[in-house]
Amino acid sequence: SERIKLLGMEIDPVNMQQTVETVLGWCAAPRGNSCRYVVTPNVDHAIMIQDNEPLQAAYEEASLVIADGAPVVLASRVLQKTLPERVAGSDLAPALFKRVSQTTAESKRPSRLLRVFLLGAAPGVGERAKSNIIARWQGVDVVGVYSPPQGFEHDVAENQKIYAAVSEAQPDLVLIGLGAPKQELWIHQHADKLEAKVALCIGATIDFLAA
Ligand code: UDP
Repeated sequence: SERIKLLGMEIDPVNMQQTVETVLGWCAAPRGNSCRYVVTPNVDHAIMIQDNEPLQAAYEEASLVIADGAPVVLASRVLQKTLPERVAGSDLAPALFKRVSQTTAESKRPSRLLRVFLLGAAPGVGERAKSNIIARWQGVDVVGVYSPPQGFEHDVAENQKIYAAVSEAQPDLVLIGLGAPKQELWIHQHADKLEAKVALCIGATIDFLAA
């Protein structure tokens, strides 16, 4: 369905269930030339995106733009461009994992694992998130964890380390927790070098998963 223009952004009118199905569909399909990515704008992003052409480009090329934040959905109602519901970025990863573990539990044959890579958050946080994820959601495997150092985005060698780590792990899904707008700008610039199917720009979700 067509994107809804709202607060200077273009947002996909999808609910959580549609988002989960779409992302898992991409994860189950063969990998394309470039990693797809999902952005989850809230009202802060509407402000950040003004006069920020690189961020506008990053949003335009996102495979899915979902409304994270009740104010965005409220604005859509006020402007009579109704978005179905809030799909919070921080709820998205747990919702995907829950669906995978339900599917795994229901299937007689051992089902295909969802391979996940965690990129971002402070050192050690990704490892804690990994043990929580694999303990909590059967069928979800965390195949790689990487916490890039300060300023990595300006360093070619550091970026190459990330491509290599992802290439080695061959994940379906990368959770990118570098904060906005760094994560959106980074994936827009590096999606064609990332051997993964889908990336989610998810802010502090790796920290939540570690808790
Ligand atoms: N972060 C990071 N590298 C950076 C900047 C931030 O790994 O260069 C991580 C930080 O540790 C946190 C996440 O980015 O896990 C999101 O932080 P924040 O809450 O500021 O982002 P928001 O949710 O507001 O986008």
